[in-house]
Amino acid sequence: MRLIKRGFKLRSTVNAIVFATVLATLTISSVVAYRSEKQSLTRTTLQLNQVYGDKMSDTVNDLFVNLKQSLAVTGDFLATDMGRTDLHDQLILFRRSHSSFNSVFIIDKDGFVLDGSNTDSNAKKNKITSDGITQALQVQQPLISEPYISATNKLIVMVSYPLFDPEGKYVGFIGGSIRLHETNIFQTVLGNKSYQSNGSYAYVVSSTGLLLYHPDESRIGEKVVGNPIVDKVLAGQSGTGHVVNSKGLSMLASYSFVKEGGWGIVAQTPEEVVLSASRELVFKIVLYMLPAMLAFMILIYWVIGKLSAPLSKLATFASQLSPSNSGGDEPPVIHAFNYEANELHKAIGRAVRHFRYQFDNVSMEAQTDPLTGLYNRRMMDRFVKNWIAQSVPFSIMVMDLDNFKRVNDTYGHDKGDEVLKFLAISIRRLLSEASVCCRFGGEEFVVLIPNENFENALCEAEKIREFMAETSSPTGDKVTLSIGLAHYPGFASNAEQLFHIADEALYRAKRLGRNRVEIAHEAVFEGKTS
Ligand code: GH3
Ligand code: MG
Ligand code: MG
Repeated sequence: MRLIKRGFKLRSTVNAIVFATVLATLTISSVVAYRSEKQSLTRTTLQLNQVYGDKMSDTVNDLFVNLKQSLAVTGDFLATDMGRTDLHDQLILFRRSHSSFNSVFIIDKDGFVLDGSNTDSNAKKNKITSDGITQALQVQQPLISEPYISATNKLIVMVSYPLFDPEGKYVGFIGGSIRLHETNIFQTVLGNKSYQSNGSYAYVVSSTGLLLYHPDESRIGEKVVGNPIVDKVLAGQSGTGHVVNSKGLSMLASYSFVKEGGWGIVAQTPEEVVLSASRELVFKIVLYMLPAMLAFMILIYWVIGKLSAPLSKLATFASQLSPSNSGGDEPPVIHAFNYEANELHKAIGRAVRHFRYQFDNVSMEAQTDPLTGLYNRRMMDRFVKNWIAQSVPFSIMVMDLDNFKRVNDTYGHDKGDEVLKFLAISIRRLLSEASVCCRFGGEEFVVLIPNENFENALCEAEKIREFMAETSSPTGDKVTLSIGLAHYPGFASNAEQLFHIADEALYRAKRLGRNRVEIAHEAVFEGKTS
């Protein structure tokens, strides 16, 4: 079997393309919007963090410069007389005016506490060997210590200033401590609630990578390892970058170096903030575009429906044309507003009309006798069959020209033909439109007259006989004929009987001298006798 490729329907194809286009447009705009929004938000966030981190760095830096200066001024003043009686009061006063410090104290050159704002008289003269103290005593210079565990077992950072007596001899230092686990200066400066509202936060690392401040207090004092940003800031750099935090979250971070103390401040925002904002934008875009896209799709669907409906009608019509269907129906009426459909409609109309014309011609040839133009025998059989099937009553005349052989012999075959044509024209003219005239073969003709009344048929037959008997034929002489007449269903119950009795009547007419009309004898058939 040969498979015929039928192809896709226009409407489905275009609708599928439109749907794919809309989907692609939505997807592409979403992806582009998401990427550009993410890029721009990332840039902005990094910039904001950078600004924030730098500002915090400046603030912390200035603060520690001031703290060092204050210690210097007070230290220089106190060093003029280390044995003064109001030393304790002076330290308390200093502590109160510098709330950044949790305590202020003076250590002598051997590491003993000379006095302190938080120290009572009993604790005096304790020797302290903690890291910060030892370091300050060694360097004998202004210092901001690394975080260390103090004598009171607290993690602190110490700012210290060396003391020299009026002779210039080193006598110890004045120090101020910042307790990292208690409310302190870093919290004040970096614990910005509005900055933290979206999950952003800042932390401070010491020059050795220890956390001085972190919003998660439990991490204060922890050493940060393997963080590229911390490594950079401790190398004295400032900038921005992506980093994964200790919880595995991707962060947009800025890092700022704090000159005093060599610390680093890292301000960072979870990347998810940027991603979710970008997603939200995409969602909004889709939400705004969707109604327009839907409307567009409906419009296209409608237009395509309008464009394809006439084509589809024409296609259905064309597909029904076949050898057994000559396009009997008219091409469908279409109301197309597109040029192609209208042209196609016109062309199909023309083709079908041409097709039908040729078909009609061919069928005419198959139905008629070429010499006389009357129906041929085949058509006559068909009429008889149909009328009997539909119980249409009719009369039948079987006629045969008398002594026609002689006509041919006398005037020639061609003249004989002319006589045949003359007879055909005459019966057509003499009989009503409703009668069916056939050339049965040779010079025999059959006429079928649909009627109830047999008498009328007899009159018609007589009329024909009389006309031929009284009118000169193309030969110049008169050519008579004989007629056998019967009626269905009055005389016979089927076609065969009908022809048979009509034929019998004709031959009776011949026998009785020709140029006469003979009525058939009623056929003997079941349930009926003649
Ligand atoms: P009858 O009165 O008994 O009918 O005598 P007839 O001579 O007519 O005898 P028959 O009907 O047997 O003759 C038929 C003749 O009709 C034979 C043939 O030469 C002639 N004929 C048949 N067909 C044609 C035709 O198409 N053209 C012409 N010119 N003659 C035909
Ligand atoms: Mg004959
Ligand atoms: Mg004859």
